[in-house]
Amino acid sequence: MQNTFDHPLPNEQGYFGEYGGSFIPPELQQIMNDIDAAYCEIRQDPEFLSQLASLYQHYVGRPSPIFLAQNLSKKYGAEIYLKREDLNHTGAHKINHCLGEALLAKKMGKQKIIAETGAGQHGVALATAAALLGLECDIYMGEVDIKKEHPNVVRMHILGANVIPATHGRKTLKEAVDAAFEAYLKDPHSQLYAIGSVVGPHPFPMMVRDFQSIIGNEARQQMQQQYGGLPDHVVACVGGGSNAMGIFSAFLDDTEVALHGVEPAGHTMDVAGEHAATLSKGQPGTMHGFKSYMLQDEQGEPQEVYSVASGLDYPSVGPQHAYLKDLGRVNYHAIDDKQAIDAFFELSRMEGIIPAIESSHAIAQACKIAKDGGCVLVNLSGRGDKDIDFVVENYGQAYEIGNKL
Ligand SMILES: *Cc1c(COP(=O)(O)O)cnc(C)c1O
Repeated sequence: MQNTFDHPLPNEQGYFGEYGGSFIPPELQQIMNDIDAAYCEIRQDPEFLSQLASLYQHYVGRPSPIFLAQNLSKKYGAEIYLKREDLNHTGAHKINHCLGEALLAKKMGKQKIIAETGAGQHGVALATAAALLGLECDIYMGEVDIKKEHPNVVRMHILGANVIPATHGRKTLKEAVDAAFEAYLKDPHSQLYAIGSVVGPHPFPMMVRDFQSIIGNEARQQMQQQYGGLPDHVVACVGGGSNAMGIFSAFLDDTEVALHGVEPAGHTMDVAGEHAATLSKGQPGTMHGFKSYMLQDEQGEPQEVYSVASGLDYPSVGPQHAYLKDLGRVNYHAIDDKQAIDAFFELSRMEGIIPAIESSHAIAQACKIAKDGGCVLVNLSGRGDKDIDFVVENYGQAYEIGNKL
């Protein structure tokens, strides 16, 4: 399938209603304008589009299937379909936008792509795209995440990327974003900052969404073919919001389809710093170059956030999600660590699919929604191989694994 990048929003300044835009130093604004201009050209260029479509098919393995999870469906009472982004090359949806961004960098004559990473999934996906297309690659990663996501760090090294630790604050995703931005400002001409989600200044929320919209475009067609119509509900986890925007984008005009974004409630929603449920608990504000909902501390600084899923612990969210929340088009929920881990084991043991802990948040919410019957489509954004050591070490006992090892 060749993707269509045909969406009414954002406007030319990058606004989704009052959210989005570009709040950055003037020297960086010129660079963003160049990226925007280059992207506007290639998004209509048949050669670029067919190059990307060919990589999606032959390199990533698209279209990813949708799978009717019958055992889960029987238990919870709705037909639950999984969009299998976990089967993509590199194991998650992120390869979809990394290939787009790396191709764009090539077209713009850049030598290097740089980025931040949380769980390491964006770093691995970008390092993969860089290796394929012959670009250098620097990945910024929080020190805490480097320890937690060791296999992904090794993968990036094998792929030839440099992994640069962010050592301040909580040493997780937000600090990695800070470090990557700082490095980018030092040399924005020979590098392209490949943002890892639908966040950052314009044009990134638009561009990353467009590259990810292949998920929804495929899934919409697959549901019609395999289920015979559109689902009643579409569910996706929301960190920065790229896999969710990717699957939602094809259903936004289908008002009979309810859309659900799932944020991490972490340990508890009642204590700031113990969750990362930006849309449920945050307020509109500006950081990392764009306006959206964000979690702030008393000084107005980005709040420290927490989730068991490294890919979800970000104190803001893509501006289109903020817009869709205010509009009431998408319902946003929160699932805590324990519910996510329960869903992780449930999908593993009932369907033989080990999901990423991020995606497990969506599974948990889908099972709640399924109690009303109908048909639920869940975006299974990634596979859980990266999480198995962490899960067994911290939760193995509860699932009677610890004593078997
Ligand atoms: C990074 C990641 C996420 C969160 O990122 P979004 O931009 O919100 O999609 C979710 N699932 C997996 C598997 C990831 O790697």
